[in-house]
Amino acid sequence: MAVSKCTRLSGPLTKQVLDSVDSVLFDCDGVIWRGDQPIPGAPEVVNLLKKAGKRVFFVTNNSTKTRKMYMEKLDKLGFEASEDEVFGTAYCSAVYLKTVCNLQGKVYLIGSNAMKQELEAMGIEQVGVGPDPVSGGQKDWAGVPLDPEVKAVLVGFDEHFSYMKLNRALQYLSNSECQFVGTNTDSRLPLEGGKAVPGTGCLLKAVETAAQRHAQVVGKPSSFMFKCMASKFKLDPSKCLMVGDRLDTDIMLGTTCGLKTLLALTGVSTVADAEEHQRSGCPKRQGMVPDYYVDSIAEILPALQA
Ligand SMILES: [Mg+2]
Repeated sequence: MAVSKCTRLSGPLTKQVLDSVDSVLFDCDGVIWRGDQPIPGAPEVVNLLKKAGKRVFFVTNNSTKTRKMYMEKLDKLGFEASEDEVFGTAYCSAVYLKTVCNLQGKVYLIGSNAMKQELEAMGIEQVGVGPDPVSGGQKDWAGVPLDPEVKAVLVGFDEHFSYMKLNRALQYLSNSECQFVGTNTDSRLPLEGGKAVPGTGCLLKAVETAAQRHAQVVGKPSSFMFKCMASKFKLDPSKCLMVGDRLDTDIMLGTTCGLKTLLALTGVSTVADAEEHQRSGCPKRQGMVPDYYVDSIAEILPALQA
């Protein structure tokens, strides 16, 4: 018989599930905070999990902050956290380029200062951060000066994304030996009041379209971020709980890597979305069905206080 999925986590089941894991992985936005405000009860949950001897990790696709910047934010919002518990795509992309791509050379970076800092901390030189205004005409664009030491293009969130950057990426990627990496494919960044702004996925799609190539993606649901922390901390996937608010990234990552999964309804996805995936009969979509769900992670507080 199939194990029942998408069960509300409450009562004795909460303690049972928590007892069965030794590590808890939290997505950040929509799970432990929303923008600059902590989800009520979330700091207590994280701090009590640690007190109970659980390892806690913070796993985010957002590439605009370094691990240190995340640690400062966590600290300010009342979470006990250290830098090595944070796995953001700025840091993980640098690890990926170093360990998986075995990069020998520079990176053409479409991204933020935070990404630049994480690359430099890994000893990887980069070019490209900041505005790149258009000049000349089409013939000049095709012959735009390139840095011969660039051996990879990395695309993350870049508020200065422009036609010239897109063009420069295309010119670098025309060399089939130039590696192509993206931080994540999230198409929108949800804001309060149902508003949203374009996410990194839009920028990455534009570069993929121009270059006629597919990027290797580091962020959730790709399993790299979990592999990154699992190898560093010797994690046993079956004893990890992934907590997220998105079915297509957080829950999918958990399923792919063999983790237990918990959907928090304080962000993007709903139980109805999960049930629709479950009913679809499509194996890929069923990977987006969480084992459990809660209205908010604050609901697991009583099990930790008992
Ligand atoms: Mg989220």
